[in-house]
Amino acid sequence: MSMNIPLVDLKAQYAAIKPEVNLAIHRILENTSFILGQEVVQFEDAFADYIGAQGAVGVASGTGALHLALLACGVGPGDEVITTAHTFFATAEAISQTGARPVFVDIDPKTYNLDPALVENAVSERTKAIVPVHLYGQPADMASLMAIAQRHNLWVIEDAAQAHGAEFRGQRVGAIGHLGCFSFYPGKNLGAYGDGGIVVGNDLDLLGKVRRLRNHGRISKYEHLEVGWGERLDALHAAVLGVKLQYIEEWTELRRAHARSYTELLADAGVVTPFVAADVRHVFHLYVIRVARRDEVLAYLREKGIGAGIHYPIPLHQQPAYRGTDIGHVSLPVTEQVAQEVLSLPMYPELREDQIAYIVEAVQEAINR
Ligand SMILES: *Cc1c(COP(=O)(O)O)cnc(C)c1O
Repeated sequence: MSMNIPLVDLKAQYAAIKPEVNLAIHRILENTSFILGQEVVQFEDAFADYIGAQGAVGVASGTGALHLALLACGVGPGDEVITTAHTFFATAEAISQTGARPVFVDIDPKTYNLDPALVENAVSERTKAIVPVHLYGQPADMASLMAIAQRHNLWVIEDAAQAHGAEFRGQRVGAIGHLGCFSFYPGKNLGAYGDGGIVVGNDLDLLGKVRRLRNHGRISKYEHLEVGWGERLDALHAAVLGVKLQYIEEWTELRRAHARSYTELLADAGVVTPFVAADVRHVFHLYVIRVARRDEVLAYLREKGIGAGIHYPIPLHQQPAYRGTDIGHVSLPVTEQVAQEVLSLPMYPELREDQIAYIVEAVQEAINR
């Protein structure tokens, strides 16, 4: 028996909601209101409600969300921003885009999220903000991070690109820090059919700045208060996302159930299964195990038709863009170790139990070889 199982199956999701999605797309084609307008506002309101935030501003990508959120908080040249190196490149890229300097600190070996004790040690005179990432869908330790931020008067901008609907002590991430940033990249837990993102928050003044920056610094049709960006969320994406938002809770519970199955079936496999911190709702954007001889295991899984992946093989301080610079000149032992051992198994709501069993069996075979 052989199966082909992708890391993410976007076709299965489209098949399940095709009529509604097609209707939404055709509504926009007919009304030709492609930029901003009612569709975008409606989705922003619905998403803010879902997160439990006062407001939301749709933008062109998750990267754009981070960039504009940092700018709205006044982050710029001469500032330092503390973040993790075990994440997608865009987290640090957005900091660099503002002219500020990313300062990487090491992660907790169990959750793979920022280690608050190390964050506090890294605070300097120049530190302006902390950007925690809720990696793989698990919230970072927001209680400790917010306390540090308060002590040192820092902004907290959450990178929630992988954590739609995740909760820390009952509160949805994105609305805990000063601003929260989400990505609607197609493979994310809530995905558009192209690029998209959103900034959420409770400070309407800050959100107003993001709203202005995403649209050329505009305050009226012909007046530009400042130099901004063309970083708007398209109405077509907003319409599709509005349909999908109605399913996100159902999809998230399926992800969580698949994670429980994996963890149960992998209990004696000789791999490290995901640790879930107390008091969080992990939304399993990715199901990531740790194994020695990771690259051999990955090759074997691919031979068996399983679309496993690595998130992420090269820590950001070792990326060519930062290597050899001041920014890359830092030692992060946990991050470096974890980067060699993490392995993402297929995870999406439509994944079936027989597929999970097949994947687990293949992992077991690979380990025993
Ligand atoms: C996907 C992602 C981003 C960037 O989002 P885009 O929409 O692709 O620009 C930023 N941070 C993290 C952690 C991500 O996973």
